[in-house]
Amino acid sequence: MNIAIIGSGLTGTIASISLAKAGSRVDLYERLSDEELINRDRTYAITHSSRRILERIGVWSDISSSLVSFQYLNVIDNQINKNFQFLVNDLNNREQQYVSVGWIAQHNIIMSSMLEYISHIEHINKIPTSVIPNTHNYDLIIAADGSNSTTKKKLKTPSFSFDYDQICVTAKVLLRGLKSNEAFEILSTEGPLAILPLGGDLFQIICSQSIKKASYNLSLPKHIFLDYLSTLLPYGVEPDTIIDEPKPYPIKFQLNSSFHSGKYIYVGETCHTFHPVGGQGLNLCWRDVECITNLISLPFIRNYKFIIPVLYSFSRLIDVLSISFITDFLVRYSRTNSCLLFIPKIIIFSILKRSKIARKFILNIMTNGFGFNFHK
Ligand SMILES: Cc1cc2nc3c(=O)[nH]c(=O)nc-3n(C[C@H](O)[C@H](O)[C@H](O)COP(=O)(O)OP(=O)(O)OC[C@H]3O[C@@H](n4cnc5c(N)ncnc54)[C@H](O)[C@@H]3O)c2cc1C
Repeated sequence: MNIAIIGSGLTGTIASISLAKAGSRVDLYERLSDEELINRDRTYAITHSSRRILERIGVWSDISSSLVSFQYLNVIDNQINKNFQFLVNDLNNREQQYVSVGWIAQHNIIMSSMLEYISHIEHINKIPTSVIPNTHNYDLIIAADGSNSTTKKKLKTPSFSFDYDQICVTAKVLLRGLKSNEAFEILSTEGPLAILPLGGDLFQIICSQSIKKASYNLSLPKHIFLDYLSTLLPYGVEPDTIIDEPKPYPIKFQLNSSFHSGKYIYVGETCHTFHPVGGQGLNLCWRDVECITNLISLPFIRNYKFIIPVLYSFSRLIDVLSISFITDFLVRYSRTNSCLLFIPKIIIFSILKRSKIARKFILNIMTNGFGFNFHK
């Protein structure tokens, strides 16, 4: 099958490798240079669904050593002062052998490995332009050109979107009082805060806060920002040094009204952009890629290429909608300070602290997503 992919972010890049490995000829269109693609300062939480995709395309063994594995995911609700932990034992049996609840990946490391990998694959042709000269040459066109997709605008595919009146502030910080293999999701009325291990005492902090507060905090000298951070961190955890400049990262909710248009298929942030709470973003993007790869690998599909976009939309719907609902719920749950919700919040945390079945259920959703997938 001849496939064009527009956009070589982490979704387009993984899609090109996955589809080429499944036997397609792929033209990968990207307007930025490799250097610009690599030099983005982002940190991702990788779940087992992403690990499976990386294994399937044959890059897991090469990149797993550059990822930081975590065995504990602590969830804290600051308002009710309760917490619980997801452990490796809460994963499905087949995932427990990896002895990791998840992994943390730095963008530059993962992107440079993928670009290097692409350069050895014959069936991927990288084209440094944003315009596809002749769309008739392709059986499928995959739009992976990000949340401000020009492809989507050109095809007039509407999307539902709103802003959270919040932005994320991210910083790499040396912390005292934490294990190097634990991650945190802290729900506070300012907004969710994630602490992700980067190896040793180094951690990535990703905190969402109101635009006003974030602009103020970003203007602070580093040592005062550090004092402010210490007020957000769990009891007993002390920030020592900020390694980089704290940066803002815009957050919004955006969901396409349709996941395809003719022979165009929307994947990754082109199709859905959610709040980073729960670390679902990149994993959801890569599950889109897994779905298309499964579809084009179906034996009967060669004669019915035209139904791939429809089958794709159908099979991605439940996963994308449910993750959109869960992430949005978590943001609202975290920010509400209504006394009426005190009792339900305490009940939820007590159940999750005591019941392994409840933790398994939630962790399985966070790890594998929801819904239906076509398999070869
Ligand atoms: C500033 C910022 C910071 C972020 N930080 C984090 C983070 O810390 N942790 C996290 O989990 N997630 C983060 N995210 C989200 C995360 O980057 C995405 O979930 C992930 O990169 C997958 O995105 P994507 O490949 O679908 O789209 P993108 O990464 O946006 O890639 C789209 C690509 O398409 C290219 N493109 C656009 N238009 C065209 C065109 N017309 N022709 C050719 N190419 C085109 C762009 O140059 C880009 O390379 C961040 C996003 C942003 C914007």
